[in-house]
Amino acid sequence: RGLLSGKVAVVTGAASGIGAAVVERFLREGARVIAVDLTDQSPGRPDLLVIKGDVADAETWRRIADTARAEFGRLDVLHSNASMVVRTPAHELLEADWDRQLSVNLKATYLAVNACVGLLREDRGAIVLSSSVHALVGVPGHPAYAAAKGGLVSLGRQLAVEYGPEVRVNTVLPGPILTPAWDGIGEEDRLRSVAATAAARFGRPDEVAAAVTFLSCAESSYITGASLVVDGGWTAV
Ligand code: NAD
Repeated sequence: RGLLSGKVAVVTGAASGIGAAVVERFLREGARVIAVDLTDQSPGRPDLLVIKGDVADAETWRRIADTARAEFGRLDVLHSNASMVVRTPAHELLEADWDRQLSVNLKATYLAVNACVGLLREDRGAIVLSSSVHALVGVPGHPAYAAAKGGLVSLGRQLAVEYGPEVRVNTVLPGPILTPAWDGIGEEDRLRSVAATAAARFGRPDEVAAAVTFLSCAESSYITGASLVVDGGWTAV
């Protein structure tokens, strides 16, 4: 029996990087998964339903909640992971790009909870939010991303208290994890990020998936409102 045997989980940003690794690990742990992404994903299977949609759109979340209810009759885990970034200093950032980053990276979690917390409460579920070390340390060129990721840490704590005995809510803060999000980022920036970690290397998506799995399953039953850095020691250096 896996750590998530019998559980139903929603994972957003499931087509790439950390989200894809979480889907793979959740399936291995016995969960049935609803995998959500803006981009196309490989077709589902009996324990994997695929939904194409924008997490910043309330209609996507209605479809996700309806699917969980209709296909599985329950929802135990919500991993809000989808994200995007426009790398530009604040004085050059277009207002539309600020709004989009706040919507995808922060508002989407409010929409998720709004649509899904009823189901999660029924099943004493767990929510895991995906923040970033950018919530804790300044990195040039990420004003809206950092604001949204910082907001998620506060939102996670607030939701943990709000839904207290029924739903646990925790937040992971990854450091530099080698995923397609790093495509197009130059060697100098990569080396600087790796040098900022005590581990002196990039993290792997499966190393974040392990933390997300821990916070999603009964192994973390007394942990809620917590922030877990998965950053190779970036914030310890
Ligand atoms: P990624 O770019 O590899 O994957 C993100 C996925 O989200 C993509 O498949 C994309 O299509 C999807 N997505 C983007 N906008 C969406 C939307 N509006 N609706 C639905 N899907 C959408 O990213 P990743 O590196 O795997 O990052 C996953 C999470 O980890 C993100 O929340 C990211 O901020 C966080 N994180 C990553 C790193 C890192 O170094 N990779 C560091 C800190 C935090």
